[in-house]
Amino acid sequence: MLEVLRSGSVAQGPMVKRLEDAFSSAFGFRHSIAVNNGTTALVAALEVFDLRPGDEVLTSPFTFVATLNAILESGATATFADITEDDFNIDPASVASAITDRTRVLLPVHLYGQMADMGPLAELAQKHDLRILEDSAQSHGATYDGIAAGGFGVGTFSFYATKNITTGEGGMITTDDDTLADRLRVLRNQGMRERYVYEVAGHNYRLTDLQAALGIPQLENYSSVVERRKLNAARLTTGLKGLPGVVVPRELPRRSHVWHQFTIRLTDDAPIGRDEFVARLAETGVGAGVYYPRTLLDYSAYRDHPRVRQSAVPVADRVASEVVSLPVHTSLTDDDIDVIVESVAALVTA
Ligand SMILES: *Cc1c(COP(=O)(O)O)cnc(C)c1O
Repeated sequence: MLEVLRSGSVAQGPMVKRLEDAFSSAFGFRHSIAVNNGTTALVAALEVFDLRPGDEVLTSPFTFVATLNAILESGATATFADITEDDFNIDPASVASAITDRTRVLLPVHLYGQMADMGPLAELAQKHDLRILEDSAQSHGATYDGIAAGGFGVGTFSFYATKNITTGEGGMITTDDDTLADRLRVLRNQGMRERYVYEVAGHNYRLTDLQAALGIPQLENYSSVVERRKLNAARLTTGLKGLPGVVVPRELPRRSHVWHQFTIRLTDDAPIGRDEFVARLAETGVGAGVYYPRTLLDYSAYRDHPRVRQSAVPVADRVASEVVSLPVHTSLTDDDIDVIVESVAALVTA
């Protein structure tokens, strides 16, 4: 950051390029295009898909609201598939029945650090000639069959403060397609190919060199961050397994989980309701969170929206009422994790 400040040029410049190149080589992408946040990454990616009114983008109802807001900003109609309780991501069987002849984009969200079931999802996309846009905001470096999140189509990432890699605010778009990458680079900078040569109507979606300088060392150190998160998740899993009413998250076959969140489900078998559980944990000093308390279809802003297609998502509805995310971050000590386990155990076996 001092290097950037001393250079006298703090906006998008050589440090952003360094972050992009490091991101591409860390995870195996041909192109990485840095932008100012994970939401504009989604908006820009959808824009280069050239969607028309009435076109449908099929996604998960169990995600952060940015996924849906970006679809609506693109002018397309949002449609939904249900999720599975095993990975919290869209269920290929439900996707298959939600595809219509207006569906253009399949937008899986890789929630909590684990990728959606991309094998069957990619087959469906191929069969129905759909673009794949992976909302990988929570899953930097997660893999499926060795392919990193963002590598099945166009990927988008967030560097928001809470994400596994952060620049305060920031985002990245990944693609192996040269034409799309070129269009995205022009689009993020007011549609300018070079100064005052406007090629398309664009945006200011630029990341700054100051932010990039924050991100680069985190990327260099990222594999040890993921290693620590995996160890923490394993210790939590061992401690919590078998407790009544507690279902621990699993890393599924073919996938590598980067444990952005460690999310348990508190089922009806637990002797305590979720709200009280979270409040009592807070009293013992354990900061648990609920991501997310309701599906997006369960908010009036979207229930009555003309471009949000309502559909029954019973698994997502139930899961949204059950999830609790426990701390899994890299500052935890083994003793901290034992305190978390003991606190949870005391609440569900009381
Ligand atoms: C954080 C997040 C976003 C948005 O990223 P911002 O950088 O906050 O704009 C989009 N989708 C998901 C799933 C997220 O978790």
